Amino acid sequence: MAIFRERLRERGLKPAAQRDNVALTFFKLGRPISAEKLYVEVKKVNPYAGQATVYRTLRLLKECELVYERYFSDGKGRYEIVNDKDPRHQFICDRCGRIIEFQNARLERISFAVARELGVLLGRQKIELYGTCPRCLKEERRHSPAIRFFRRPHTKTRAPAY
Ligand SMILES: [Zn+2]
Repeated sequence: MAIFRERLRERGLKPAAQRDNVALTFFKLGRPISAEKLYVEVKKVNPYAGQATVYRTLRLLKECELVYERYFSDGKGRYEIVNDKDPRHQFICDRCGRIIEFQNARLERISFAVARELGVLLGRQKIELYGTCPRCLKEERRHSPAIRFFRRPHTKTRAPAY
């Protein structure tokens, strides 16, 4: 948030309460979110906030390179915090679009090995996995009980619960 304020100052933009509400809500959530959903969250903090402010603030955050927008198979854009120090990979559910972020040191080591083989210098890392999320799997199993779950192995993958 402090960096955002600093970047705005560099651009000669004055602080604005609504814009701050939007940015703060976004940073606090700390997960990829669509503009529409962010608007709903901002409304809880400031019922007077307008949708245009949400879009404008997201655009500003993007211009300040603090946020980036990505499009998924459902055609919707989601905004994410740019975070270089802490690589976060994603599992994206093909069915419901849910995103599960995770970290896995082994995957990151493999990325470095691949980069070495390619003869490239590795910058930011982001690995995307696609498939069916646990929630959709459960739903599916309810309809066709024959489908078995994969047993969860002992895991080194850290995924925040939300
Ligand atoms: Zn799903």
